[in-house]
Amino acid sequence: MNVDEFQKYGREVVDYICEYSTHIEERDVAPTLNPGYLKKIIPADAPQSPESFKDILKDFEQKIMPGIVHWNHPKFFAYFPSGNSFPSILGDMLSSAIGSIGFSWASCPAAAELETIVMNWYAKALGLPKAFISDAPGSTGGGALQGSASECVLVSLITARARAINELKGQTTVHDSVFLPNLIAYASREAHSCVEKAAKMALVKLRIVDADEHGQMRVDLLQQAIENDVTAGLTPFFVVATVGTTGGCAFDDITEIGRVCRRISSIWLHVDGAYAGNSFILPEMRTFSAGLEFADSFNTNPNKLLLTNFDASALWVRDVMNLKSALNVNPLYLRHDHMNGVDYRHYGIPLSRRFRALKLWFVFRIYGIKGLQEYIRNHMALAKKFEMLVRKDERFEVRNDVHLGLVCFRMRTDDESNHLLLAQINHSGKMHMTPAKFNGRYVIRFCVTYEHATEKDILEAWCQIKNFAEEILRDAKL
Ligand code: PLP
Repeated sequence: MNVDEFQKYGREVVDYICEYSTHIEERDVAPTLNPGYLKKIIPADAPQSPESFKDILKDFEQKIMPGIVHWNHPKFFAYFPSGNSFPSILGDMLSSAIGSIGFSWASCPAAAELETIVMNWYAKALGLPKAFISDAPGSTGGGALQGSASECVLVSLITARARAINELKGQTTVHDSVFLPNLIAYASREAHSCVEKAAKMALVKLRIVDADEHGQMRVDLLQQAIENDVTAGLTPFFVVATVGTTGGCAFDDITEIGRVCRRISSIWLHVDGAYAGNSFILPEMRTFSAGLEFADSFNTNPNKLLLTNFDASALWVRDVMNLKSALNVNPLYLRHDHMNGVDYRHYGIPLSRRFRALKLWFVFRIYGIKGLQEYIRNHMALAKKFEMLVRKDERFEVRNDVHLGLVCFRMRTDDESNHLLLAQINHSGKMHMTPAKFNGRYVIRFCVTYEHATEKDILEAWCQIKNFAEEILRDAKL
């Protein structure tokens, strides 16, 4: 494809995106297809000869689009927001066009330096402790953009594991793996499954600590578990607290958890704020970030609640030397003349890295902190509106404390009829929601996700939910 063709087709794609975004509500939010639908309409082998762009774009609309779940649809209330916006797409387009692989300062100085600057902007915007801000006086900390929150949790756990093993090892020369059976990590039953996955990959034990009726980790049980494990000869080395749990958007008490961790110096406290961490951009949400000064690391995804498209997940650590010593390898082919510049390859798993800071830079500049605050406040107000509607209807109940954009609700019936309600909502194609088990009960998660969500979207959704529920209650004579 030459430049002229790229320009022509590029404009067509931008036009397509604009048309898609403007008329997205005319589409069903999610398809009702069966697995294998695409195999039936797309050839099993790649074409031998070039095909026309026109045909590809036509097939995109006719074959791919019917299988798309529209995460940026006004009636998409599932999971958490996918965090997307035009400024972010534009930043990402430039990143794709440049195509530099910024693993070291030398491999792309602008990517390395902008990432440092943007991570500091971001940390300051969220009011994070100075220890995480690399340009704060005396700080040894800093941050880097990873691909996902799961990656942030894994990187933190591996770093904590390396620190704990070094302490256990002292001057001995035995292999690090000898200490693995000693190590034990902790997370609440409401923590995301990525914690379990990280422990599995790192070959360390994970103790699940119960949560209270609000979905917060029981700190008394955490402390008890740590004490018992120490008595049993184990080495507690890693605790994950969650701010904004996936099931119910509950906020663990970081201060209390931090105090427990401080009693044993080798415990690394990681705070997972994949979704809700971004809400600390609002001063009124910072009651939930109190205690972050105890944390060794913290992650939040701008690709969930900061209008930045996937992938972008921010991880900050209190001491970057911990990361570097856990993940550092230094082959000759990666050395360069400016080793005093930041080499982000030491901050995560992959060597190659996309220029993710660019889209975040666009987002911060186009919206400003005020614009981002307004966006989150709108989600909060709409979630409160939905909560109020549910609470006013005695056939329903709200099960979580609504602090941000997520409302977990259910009919006051059995789990089976709530399951049916969700199935009918999703099969309609007109709205999309997901289930969770919160505080032992099956709930339907209603999360405000759309960038330009309005009260009308919420009222319409509630009206449809009630219609489905009425049918179910009538049929079941409940
Ligand atoms: N942590 C929490 C609290 C989450 O809610 C999620 C996903 O929703 C994750 C971690 C995993 O995020 P990712 O998909 O970025 O790995």
